[in-house]
Amino acid sequence: MKRTYWLGGAIAAIVLVAVGGAVAVGQHNQRHSSSSATKTVKTSDLPAGVKTTDWDLVLVNKQHPEDPEVPFDQAKVGDKVVNAKIQQAVVDFMNGAKAAGYQTTLVSGYRSIQYQKEVYASVLATNKAEGMSDADAEKATAAVVQTPGSSEHETGLAIDLAGNDALAKYPGLDGKMDQFASQRWLIEHAPDYGFVLRYKKDAKSIKETGIDYESWHFRYVGVKNAKYMTKHDLTLEAYLKALKAAGKD
Ligand SMILES: [Zn+2]
Repeated sequence: MKRTYWLGGAIAAIVLVAVGGAVAVGQHNQRHSSSSATKTVKTSDLPAGVKTTDWDLVLVNKQHPEDPEVPFDQAKVGDKVVNAKIQQAVVDFMNGAKAAGYQTTLVSGYRSIQYQKEVYASVLATNKAEGMSDADAEKATAAVVQTPGSSEHETGLAIDLAGNDALAKYPGLDGKMDQFASQRWLIEHAPDYGFVLRYKKDAKSIKETGIDYESWHFRYVGVKNAKYMTKHDLTLEAYLKALKAAGKD
């Protein structure tokens, strides 16, 4: 009897906490959405000395393909190749995760256009094999794989980085890897090492980038830019637009 009573009390307490939490989250969202509705990037706020033509802000996407590739100095991190200019940042990022208790795997660094063609063809074939029509298969493939020439992996400035536990559950990479604290640590701390999570979860970001949520794909933009973009919740596309509007091109 006493035990039942205690359980009832505990459940009531949990419900109260949950309701309190929901209210707090609701208020936060409301504040956030009302401020972002009126939010404009103040040009006076933009980091000093930054230009759209900086090497670490190069934009490669469907609307801005880079074909043929622009050559760069290559360096290795483990068995993966990255742009030599970000080699140390990648090493520091992974070491930072390790120090926080998370082992990580660098799944991908530089990928050539040729390799991207193979990835694209392989995903397309899988989609068709699963019974999709040609048009649907193209659409589904383009939503998750950048068409060859429009993947920023070809710049050597993008990495696919995963917590080992998240990767063990999702070896094919999946947005749901962010269920793992390791992946959330990477997403949260990326800016400290000059990286941003490039393809974010919210509808506005997906619209701007044209790519679905990727909880593993990080892009080097430099610490100053990464922190600014994160603070103001900007995709690279939106950030470059703001710089351009401010005459920083
Ligand atoms: Zn990637």
